Amino acid sequence: MMDFTLQKYKELLNALNSASYNFQTFEEFIQQPKERSIVLRHDVDLLPLNSLAFARIQAKKKVAGTYYFRAVPKSWDEKVIREIASLGHEVGYHYECLTTTKGVLELGIQDFTSNLKALRLLTPVKTICMHGSPMSKYDSKDLWKQYNYKDYGIIAEPYFDVDYNDVYYVTDTGRKWDGHKTSVRDHVKTSFTNTYHSTDEIIQAIRQGAFPNQAMFTFHPQRWNNNFLKWSKELVLQNAKNVVKKHFYVNRQI
Ligand SMILES: [Zn+2]
Repeated sequence: MMDFTLQKYKELLNALNSASYNFQTFEEFIQQPKERSIVLRHDVDLLPLNSLAFARIQAKKKVAGTYYFRAVPKSWDEKVIREIASLGHEVGYHYECLTTTKGVLELGIQDFTSNLKALRLLTPVKTICMHGSPMSKYDSKDLWKQYNYKDYGIIAEPYFDVDYNDVYYVTDTGRKWDGHKTSVRDHVKTSFTNTYHSTDEIIQAIRQGAFPNQAMFTFHPQRWNNNFLKWSKELVLQNAKNVVKKHFYVNRQI
């Protein structure tokens, strides 16, 4: 059966639910982590309606997740942001301020401040998360070498405030769960050795009690689809992008 469909996504949530995991937003997890806890993080890079579909499925199952929106028109849809927040999910800011300002820290923090303020007009924001911008040579996390997000009422950033030796990290990078090796920025330091390729492998591990107690899943809902044609198109694009990313990464190592 096809992977990375909404059907498969529902199966994953059902498996986690049956195995008595708690679902916490990232904000809740930071404030009071439960022993058996899943954080469903969503990076809304584009196609916000796909994220809305995820949010509605979760709400039906009484599950809460965290959605990070970019301050660009293809992500920032105020109707979607409001609806996702009203369904009980956490909304955060998916910042890319050093890409936008080509590494100029002073402009980057201005960009950060004004976008955060705009998002807070729609919903409270307590956490942020870096957007990887794989094609850019700037890493927006570098903003925090000079500034401190805690000065802006932000309590956590997934790349700084989680010990991934305790919390298992998986991301759907490249439409597989073990594609982080090809990602330029979306990887974390961890001592976990478990790797899963397909969603079915994760579901099987959950059912067997072999899946870690605490985990963060990062979803890019634009990569998940129920429509076969759209799905194939996205897969082709994704593969092309990975080749470029890999090439780019190799170049950067030289
Ligand atoms: Zn992103």
